[in-house]
Amino acid sequence: MSNAQQFTSKTVLISGASIAGPALAYWLHRYGFTVTVVEQAPSLREGGYKVDIRGAAMDVIERMGLTGEIRKASTDMRGGAWVDANGKTLTTLGPDLIGMRAPGDDEVLRGDLARILFDATKSGVEYLFGDSITGMVEHAEGVEVRFGHAAARMFDLVIGADGMHSATRRTVFGPEEQFVRSTGMAVCAYTVPNDLGLDRWELVHPTPGHVVQAYSTAGAAAKAQFIFPAPEQLPDRRDVAGQQRLVSDVFADSGWETPGLLAAMPNSPDFYFDSVDQIHLDTWSRGRIALIGDAAWCPSPLSGQGTSMALVGAYVLAGELKAAHGDHRAAFLAYREALRPYVTENLALGWKNATDMVATTPGTLKVHITAIKVMRYLPWKGMALRSIMKPLNHAANAIELADY
Ligand SMILES: Cc1cc2nc3c(=O)[nH]c(=O)nc-3n(C[C@H](O)[C@H](O)[C@H](O)COP(=O)(O)OP(=O)(O)OC[C@H]3O[C@@H](n4cnc5c(N)ncnc54)[C@H](O)[C@@H]3O)c2cc1C
Repeated sequence: MSNAQQFTSKTVLISGASIAGPALAYWLHRYGFTVTVVEQAPSLREGGYKVDIRGAAMDVIERMGLTGEIRKASTDMRGGAWVDANGKTLTTLGPDLIGMRAPGDDEVLRGDLARILFDATKSGVEYLFGDSITGMVEHAEGVEVRFGHAAARMFDLVIGADGMHSATRRTVFGPEEQFVRSTGMAVCAYTVPNDLGLDRWELVHPTPGHVVQAYSTAGAAAKAQFIFPAPEQLPDRRDVAGQQRLVSDVFADSGWETPGLLAAMPNSPDFYFDSVDQIHLDTWSRGRIALIGDAAWCPSPLSGQGTSMALVGAYVLAGELKAAHGDHRAAFLAYREALRPYVTENLALGWKNATDMVATTPGTLKVHITAIKVMRYLPWKGMALRSIMKPLNHAANAIELADY
């Protein structure tokens, strides 16, 4: 990191140490701010599912000097196959179709990316694990913050990078319900033993309205993922046993290798369950407090763009704070202006990706399978793929990164 010293008096507290938080911490520290990150988990949350880094987000990674680390952590998927209830292959997909990535883009496990960002910041940034903000009072000269464990402190700015269900957003903007747009689907993902012997290979078992996936990435354990229609009343977010019961009930008759994947669920170290929702806010700041990443604009876990948006958002927010010489009012306005078109386009695309991902009727499922089969044999496959990927590529690059 370079040691520009212009803003040593500016103290910033970031809530959340996943992707947006440490990425923002990186840039703020590099620009001379004094940064603290508070994370409710007792340590860095490792593991997790695979996430894409596309377009402008890869540029941000390059500007951080982390491209080599990302290439080393790449999932390096070889491809995958769709299978029926008896395990018979319906169609296979190469790495191009399964990843939908342009040359230069990459895919890593969320936990690996979090680790890379943490390692790049830990020497210059204060991390408080196992703690969270319990109260904030904004004064003319700063925000007085109370923590569950650490002593109360004043910060010049507070940034909520605390994800889809952001407590910072709730405190500053009000209840989550008013900002949620729901696709009506739910998703669950967790680590499983690699009993299927998958080697950088993904198996997908789709039935109308439901998808079961299993994959293994380079050098990591296998993962299972389930997508299904969300019931009207989802179990409480803390009721893990209730969530696991629901997934087991919904997929009880799904066939294929589903029973084995479900059996591994209770012992999994990283069970994740949530509804597939988006977050829409008109503005991402109030006074000295702002939001970033899924807390501000979650495009849904199935959009394929949440990680990239977090990385790009971090670069822009830190850059605008630097450009405004720490004047947070000017910086937060410029942050919104610079990012809004990119976020709007990615939220629209994220909605389409999430809602198109699951075929809801036997007819649409047949159309999906046939389309993939036909694609493989088209002499102009490259051209067809480029045209399918055009909206995603466009959205991933829908921002010109300023040189701050
Ligand atoms: C199953 C699944 C598959 C996905 N697949 C993809 C994909 O293919 N491509 C892609 O780009 N994206 C994908 N995503 C989305 C991606 O993971 C998120 O968009 C991205 O992680 C957003 O990063 P973030 O830092 O904003 O939020 P998060 O990753 O949600 O991190 C928020 C952090 O804040 C912490 N926190 C929460 N509350 C508090 C609190 N009160 N105090 C302190 N800390 C708190 C949390 O513990 C967490 O560490 C997927 C998500 C899921 C769930």
